[in-house]
Amino acid sequence: MSDQPRIAVTRAELAAARAALDLGAPPGPVVLVPTMGALHAGHERLLSAARTLAGPRGSVVVSIFVNPLQFGPAEDLDRYPRTLDQDVALCAREGVRLVFAPSAAEMYPAGKPEVTVDPGPAGQVLEGEFRPGFFGGVLTVVLKLLHLTRPAIAVFGQKDAQQLALVRRMVTDLNLDVVIEPVPTARDADGLATSSRNRYLSAADRAVALALPRALRAGQARAVEGEGAVLAAARDVLRAEPALAVDYVAVVDPGTFGPAGPGPALLVAAARAGGTRLIDNMPVVLPAQGAGAQDAATGGPAGDAAHH
Ligand code: AMP
Repeated sequence: MSDQPRIAVTRAELAAARAALDLGAPPGPVVLVPTMGALHAGHERLLSAARTLAGPRGSVVVSIFVNPLQFGPAEDLDRYPRTLDQDVALCAREGVRLVFAPSAAEMYPAGKPEVTVDPGPAGQVLEGEFRPGFFGGVLTVVLKLLHLTRPAIAVFGQKDAQQLALVRRMVTDLNLDVVIEPVPTARDADGLATSSRNRYLSAADRAVALALPRALRAGQARAVEGEGAVLAAARDVLRAEPALAVDYVAVVDPGTFGPAGPGPALLVAAARAGGTRLIDNMPVVLPAQGAGAQDAATGGPAGDAAHH
């Protein structure tokens, strides 16, 4: 499929194009992939999952919007990469039917919104602690995009695990009529999770940044020994790369981002290489309480954002 997607820039254009998607008999599901553009292999994976979920009768809608509401005053809103022509070409290759690429004025016609989504306690920790206001901005724009595009399904990457958990919580708490589908993290051959911000990394920065997935893998490999061993192994790798400035490394419950119990958990970390901030995570399965020797030794609270 390589038909050009329809491009909507205004809400009115989107409404008209969205209505046209319901004209099939019977119409298939609309699947939304929200992005900030500068599309890469991670987004490609989301688009291909979306295409499969949409099925032969359904349609994939991609939003491309660098949302000012989720950027802090000292963050990279102005220099965030914008590559709309290449993004649309990639969307065409992936069989996307409709691209919604609004301006900030189109998304926020009354200026900065006064009524926004409160992400609750899980939005205050880890990424929420290091980026105040970030998740309120993310959830507010996701809610607006869901209302504007009315998808049956919306697709999110596991790379942004806390975002995924909060979007799911918003869907539950606000009774949104949409199914959230997670997609596994895409990585380059060297192990670094693909990200629009990776293009800021010099070769030297990139070598430094690789300590992040290496630390997560080292932690993951010790999961059977318990959370203490996981964190110790990850921190050992991070300490060996002092040029990587670590914001946090923690083991959390994948749904609540609070303390992890036995069973599936997430090892999450954020760090800066050069001026570029990277986040990543890997799943771990923790043993039943008491089974991990290291846990007894450290005895720390399970979800503590253990600062490096
Ligand atoms: P962004 O454009 O960075 O806001 O990301 C848009 C969507 O793509 C989000 O759901 C992200 O979680 C997802 N995404 C970004 N990078 C990756 C990756 N490396 N693997 C899987 N999903 C990703």
